[in-house]
Amino acid sequence: MPCLSNFGTIRILSVVLVLTFLCSPGFCVDKATSLRIAHLIEKHKKDILDIRRFIHMNPELSNREFDTSKLVSSKLLSLNMEVKPGVAHTGVVGLLRGQNQGITIGVRADMDALPIEEQTGLPYQSLNQGIMHACGHDVHTSIVLGTAMVLNEMRDLIKGSVKFIFQPAEEGVPAGEQGGASLMIKQGVLDNPPVRAILGLHVWPDAETGTILFSSGTIFAGADTFDITIQGKSAHGARPHEGIDAVYIASQVVIDIQSIISRSMNPVHPAVVTIGKISGGSRPNILADQVKLEGTVRTLDQNTQQKIKKFMEKILISKTQPFDASYSFSYKEGTSPLYNHPDLGSILEPSLKNAVGDNNVHSLDPQMVAEDFSEYSERIPGFYFLLGVKPPWQNTAPPLHSSRFSPDENSIPIGIKTLCHLLLDCLDYQKQFEDNNP
Ligand SMILES: [Zn+2]
Ligand SMILES: [Zn+2]
Repeated sequence: MPCLSNFGTIRILSVVLVLTFLCSPGFCVDKATSLRIAHLIEKHKKDILDIRRFIHMNPELSNREFDTSKLVSSKLLSLNMEVKPGVAHTGVVGLLRGQNQGITIGVRADMDALPIEEQTGLPYQSLNQGIMHACGHDVHTSIVLGTAMVLNEMRDLIKGSVKFIFQPAEEGVPAGEQGGASLMIKQGVLDNPPVRAILGLHVWPDAETGTILFSSGTIFAGADTFDITIQGKSAHGARPHEGIDAVYIASQVVIDIQSIISRSMNPVHPAVVTIGKISGGSRPNILADQVKLEGTVRTLDQNTQQKIKKFMEKILISKTQPFDASYSFSYKEGTSPLYNHPDLGSILEPSLKNAVGDNNVHSLDPQMVAEDFSEYSERIPGFYFLLGVKPPWQNTAPPLHSSRFSPDENSIPIGIKTLCHLLLDCLDYQKQFEDNNP
């Protein structure tokens, strides 16, 4: 059986194969192929940068990526790919078939923007008021489209197929709607032909252009959300003994919830609980009868996640009961932690280094942000890396989701080169595996 369908069972074998193939000439993209990739990137560079700026100037919110989707579809059609638009609302899937038999590897870009008013002052600043590509999904879309443009002219070297997946609504779906990676999967993006492994990337403003951050294992957190309502009883502000003060109780809940992380969790298992919104009360001199708290929980493993949920409930009981207050608690499990399959990692790490140089690949500590790429990597082996986009002349770059976020465009050709290396090597590796294990 080909190895990418079940990495866990062939771990020992794959380590042997990694040693066999990675040390042998011809596994990694060789110098001539690398030069060919570089030449093709140069040929398409202007077109790719124009596409990036167009998308940046015309950002669209989650599940509303209509023009971005049209642009992506028309570009993929112009490359004579098999194109499927309208997946999970505005998603687009393009299939590039190589001239040689082999499996299908997926590569995914997200396309949506955020409700932020851009303040970069760039000549290609957003034209859509209150909407901005502040998470770099314009860069992701351009890099993956650029990779399609380059690999389209290298079909002779492709041992199998590449499925280009352009996904809407990574940032979250509007209330009452479905979308994102989970809907793409429900609508069959990983099937027909089956996708055996998937690659993805995110721009990273903490790292300088030219560098890549990567590690095997968990790299991004799981993200849940919760809503709490504390129900008290109103009374005159001067006669608190006649009511139940929901503001006082909610304040204690806010403070005590932080003690879950500092006192109840194993410090080597990172977690964050943030209450980002609090609302309640009506007037300064009336005891509030109701306070609502909304927040998020970030964890790197399911055990920690479940413990936090239980402790939150215990705190709510202990803080409301003495005052005869009541509460409601709604906990919604969201994105799972993003996990890089270690076997795929060990196969492709040399490929990363071959693409950008040994000294430019750095290890990555797990981050508490979340990504719905985990929906794919829960089902099939996934490989996700972070692309440095901090211009070398800046000490610090504005962070993701900032109105001043401005990734260095020089990172785009580096992203394309890296994906071309990874995809060609991954398909080549699998082909060699199959040829040696008929
Ligand atoms: Zn984001
Ligand atoms: Zn993002």
